[in-house]
Amino acid sequence: MTKVEQIPLDMCVPCCGQGVINGVFHRMVCAGCGGVGFVRKNGSVIEGEEAVLQLRLRLNRALSMLRVYEQARPAGPSGDYQGIENKHHAGGGNYTGD
Ligand SMILES: [Zn+2]
Repeated sequence: MTKVEQIPLDMCVPCCGQGVINGVFHRMVCAGCGGVGFVRKNGSVIEGEEAVLQLRLRLNRALSMLRVYEQARPAGPSGDYQGIENKHHAGGGNYTGD
């Protein structure tokens, strides 16, 4: 069984963390990281279940950060409808009058 622990990783340099490389005719999985976008600190590829776990842990963290951001700052016109103060003027969030 794999221990659930986020390990320090480096961004894959050849693909800039994208996991894919643009070829002449199509995009290809990056050979430097096996499509993960990250490599271990020693430069080795993260494989299989370990790759899924490490990406999942990072995705969980990113999603929780996104939730906090969205709660703190409602996007676009919804703030006008919810009576949230707008620093420009009433309806500054592009209130449409609905
Ligand atoms: Zn790569």
